[in-house]
Amino acid sequence: MLSGAGLGDKVLLPNQTEYTARLGSYWSVSAALSPWCMVLPSTAENVSTIIKTLVSGNCTFGVKGGGHGSFALSNSVEDGIASILPGGPWQEVYETLAPHGVTVTGGRAGSVGVGGFLTGGGNSFHAASHGMACDTVVNFEVVLADGSIVNANAEQHADLWVALKGGSANLGLVTRFDLNVIKFPDATKPDIWGKFIAFDLADGDSVIDAMVNFTEHAHLDQNTSSIMFFGHVPAVGGMVLQLGLENTKGIADPPAAAGYLTAGKILSTTSSVVPMPDLVRSENPAQPAGVRNIWFTLTTANDPRILKYAAARHTAAVAKLSAALPPGNFTTMCAFQPLNHIIAQHGVANGGNVMGLDYWMQDGDGAARDGMLLLFEVGVYGGVEDEGKADVVVKAWAEEVERYAEELGVGWGWRYLNYAGREQDPLGTVGPVALGRLCRAARRYDPEGVFQRLRGSGFKIPEGACV
Ligand SMILES: Cc1cc2nc3c(=O)[nH]c(=O)nc-3n(C[C@H](O)[C@H](O)[C@H](O)COP(=O)(O)OP(=O)(O)OC[C@H]3O[C@@H](n4cnc5c(N)ncnc54)[C@H](O)[C@@H]3O)c2cc1C
Repeated sequence: MLSGAGLGDKVLLPNQTEYTARLGSYWSVSAALSPWCMVLPSTAENVSTIIKTLVSGNCTFGVKGGGHGSFALSNSVEDGIASILPGGPWQEVYETLAPHGVTVTGGRAGSVGVGGFLTGGGNSFHAASHGMACDTVVNFEVVLADGSIVNANAEQHADLWVALKGGSANLGLVTRFDLNVIKFPDATKPDIWGKFIAFDLADGDSVIDAMVNFTEHAHLDQNTSSIMFFGHVPAVGGMVLQLGLENTKGIADPPAAAGYLTAGKILSTTSSVVPMPDLVRSENPAQPAGVRNIWFTLTTANDPRILKYAAARHTAAVAKLSAALPPGNFTTMCAFQPLNHIIAQHGVANGGNVMGLDYWMQDGDGAARDGMLLLFEVGVYGGVEDEGKADVVVKAWAEEVERYAEELGVGWGWRYLNYAGREQDPLGTVGPVALGRLCRAARRYDPEGVFQRLRGSGFKIPEGACV
């Protein structure tokens, strides 16, 4: 069918070496399904021919960008065709831009793909200064379900532009992203500061308190960001508590980070002002490719009780995983990331999106409120059976924390699409305004529901939400 459409040289079949090599390019083994064939377009016109051919043959398909989706059916299909869209990882983008003294809001690990990251939102070092990465997209070139190629920006197809900012692959296949660039203070030095601290686990509570305080004040220094995580990492001897700090202006130890430095006993630390491509390259090993993965995400108010409880339940989950899986066969991450209200304000100022953060970041009186993004991640070195056992544990851990947050009245229903687990239905959590925008755009640009009906991968618009 695709060969008949003139795409024979772009199609890979299961008996071909390159097909097998492409299967190996999925970050998570859980997601590396074996479709009937893969097709690798190199132009928007190729993508247009592919979508027309698939629709005319009523053929199911999956869509892969950089391949960092964690679960089975996040970016491929077993029965059907996987279309692998153009666009490399963020590493290549940063390396291309750095000699020009500029950068863009992209992934914090260089290996992450551009396509999924930007259509799903994109939390970056620049989130507090520029909003989610999708908010810096000024134009999407997109192939619609009928094969037409359109540009979506503030002037043309503005409703599609807004809906693609967080709408994932529900409206079309993006073949080009035009982003606002961000200048480094010195064009000859594309540097940012990165600090990495390993704390004594016994000081977990006070490091959490420092993060809650940091989050509350993050709008005052929008260039400094932080991520902390508790993790079970057998390669470094078991349980760890680690913090990453960055400053996008290349300022080492900015005042905004000071609270962390006295929050606990520091076991080891590194600190450097380096070109941004070097820093993001160094982030890759923290989440290695080639293992099975289970992710769950939650969001809550910026409340230390939740973080402390989540960390305690993480310890319990590690004990359960140790009992269920062979020794050394899994890693975990219980990660916390500040969500200062300024992030949503940037999104609104940049024309709006369908992420829904602006909905969650205000209380009933319209006052801004800060939140915390939680990510529970387990990597499994075993087979699908071990993945199933781990899945039960992670799900229970996430449910416990969710229940506790609800009891305290500080749970947010929002689930960040780029971190969501298979069953978390992130687009069902964006609130009525964002969902309305998404539905209207889907009705207008995909009236036959191709991306709901034939696309077998990724997160869909919740069934029945658009009536
Ligand atoms: C190591 C690692 C680090 C990460 N770091 C961050 C981070 O710093 N911040 C953050 O916010 N997230 C981060 N993530 C999550 C990441 O944003 C998501 O996994 C994202 O989906 C990755 O995009 P991808 O193109 O690589 O993935 P894929 O699995 O290929 O794609 C994900 C989804 O996007 C859709 N898609 C991909 N390309 C296109 C396109 N061109 N047009 C339309 N739809 C498309 C696919 O259909 C698929 O459903 C990280 C993930 C990993 C594994």
